[in-house]
Amino acid sequence: MHVLVLGAGQLARMMSLAGAPLNIRISAFDVVSEKIVHPLTQEILGSGLDTAIEQADVITAEFEHIPHDILHHCEKSGKLLPGAQAIKTGGDRRLEKNILDKSGVKSAKYYVIKTRDDFDHAIRHVGIPMVLKTALGGYDGKGQWRLQTSSDADEIWPEIQNSIDSTENQAVVAEEFVPFDREVSLVGVRDKTGKIVIYSLSENIHTKGVLSLSTSIDDPELQKQAHSMFSAVANTLNYTGVLALEFFDVGGKLLVNEIAPRVHNSGHWTQQGAETCQFENHLRAVCGLPLGSTKLIRPTSMINILGEDTLPEAILETDGCHIHWYGKEKRPGRKMGHINVCAEDYTGLQQTLASLAKVLDEESFPAVHQFTEV
Ligand code: AMP
Repeated sequence: MHVLVLGAGQLARMMSLAGAPLNIRISAFDVVSEKIVHPLTQEILGSGLDTAIEQADVITAEFEHIPHDILHHCEKSGKLLPGAQAIKTGGDRRLEKNILDKSGVKSAKYYVIKTRDDFDHAIRHVGIPMVLKTALGGYDGKGQWRLQTSSDADEIWPEIQNSIDSTENQAVVAEEFVPFDREVSLVGVRDKTGKIVIYSLSENIHTKGVLSLSTSIDDPELQKQAHSMFSAVANTLNYTGVLALEFFDVGGKLLVNEIAPRVHNSGHWTQQGAETCQFENHLRAVCGLPLGSTKLIRPTSMINILGEDTLPEAILETDGCHIHWYGKEKRPGRKMGHINVCAEDYTGLQQTLASLAKVLDEESFPAVHQFTEV
């Protein structure tokens, strides 16, 4: 099988690593250079997009911000999974909210803003405090504002208006501020026949809007809620492949924050913590193969490596630690790789994370520093 991935970053790279044992070969379309590249070496593979589409058995995507003309071009071949509509939904907060409403799944109260009148209406309808997010192009907390009091509305409006005016078809989604206890996410997979399997929920800690730490959690009640919300969304989208839902946990009740129509950073722990990792299961789903077990084999955390290209050797010396570099050039705050940390039980996991806190820099690995030895 030959799979063409739209996007040539770390997710395509990890799909390639997971696909190799199944003889699934990956080539990647770099949307910036518009070249077909090898997902591990970034070597240019000669053929252009049209030839790559022709040569591929299946086409999939590693991120949702793919230019729409390319998505539609790929969809015409009949090989694109998940479909263009599902991928576009992840890249436009208006479509995302529509799908959530259509699926009967709860999310924060919202109002779509294009004009100052809309903004005033949103203040009355959604209430304050309020979170404002660009409909297109926002991720990792970028393109967001907070409105704490109505007297600040005049001050932030010019910036919001500028953002709406500077991109075609842009709008801002105003959302009620959710006083959540924690953020969790569910990664699952739906195959071509509609069969759904899900992984254990992850608890996610973000620092400055970027995911820092994800840990598998064992919470049957929450898992049940997340499962039914996941099934509703995946079925509404008639989805094939791995899909992630990000939630706010408010007193044990889940609200969906975001839909990611792809393998997800909060599912990287499945490489060591689950029977079949998310990358392999995504490939199995889009290639029409039977799905693998998503069973949690041991409690696992994933620590993102942000803006660092070396790690203390102590990480490799620590039992249960696995490093995954992405082979990228170092830039401040850039996702350079991750460390998966496994243990026999949650106490052991906490102990290992506490021991890592002693050797990892607090600035680059803030979330790990909340763990102290028990
Ligand atoms: P997002 O890009 O939507 O994932 O937002 C980035 C981060 O902002 C989230 O991980 C939350 O920590 C926070 N956030 C987003 N929306 C809300 C909301 N409606 N209420 C409170 N916090 C939010």
